[in-house]
Amino acid sequence: MSELKFCQGPDCHTYNTQDRLKGVKGSKTYQTRRRSHMYYGRGNFCDRRCMEDWVAQYIDQALDHYGRTTEAKHLTENNAWIKDYDWRGGYSNENRFYYFVNKITKEQRPLTEQQFNDNTYSLNTGE
Ligand SMILES: [Zn+2]
Repeated sequence: MSELKFCQGPDCHTYNTQDRLKGVKGSKTYQTRRRSHMYYGRGNFCDRRCMEDWVAQYIDQALDHYGRTTEAKHLTENNAWIKDYDWRGGYSNENRFYYFVNKITKEQRPLTEQQFNDNTYSLNTGE
C-alpha cells in the first residue's frame, strides 16, 4: 500500500470541500488533503490552486535560496539539443523514431528509446 502524504499547499485546509471535512461528528474540521498520489508540482499539491498558493507565498524565498537569473542566458549550438520523436512508419509505439534535434543548426541525430527516456543523457555541453 502506498503511503499517504499531505498536500503542501499552505491554505489547503481553508478550502471548504466535503472531502476535506474530517473527524468525528460534532468536532469535524476542514483538513489538509492527504493522498497517495497528487498530480501537481511533482506530486506535492492536490490541485493547481494549492500549488499557486505555495508559489505566491514562497517564491521569493525559493529564488533567493536557489539563485535568481541575473543575466540573459544564451541558446547556442552547444546547448540547443532537445529530444523529440515522430512516427516514420505508421502511428504506433513501435514506429516511434527518437532523435536529438539542434534548435539552432536543425541537425538531427538518432536516439534509442532508452536514451530518450534517460533524463541525464544529453548532447548539450556547458551553459
Ligand atoms: Zn491542497
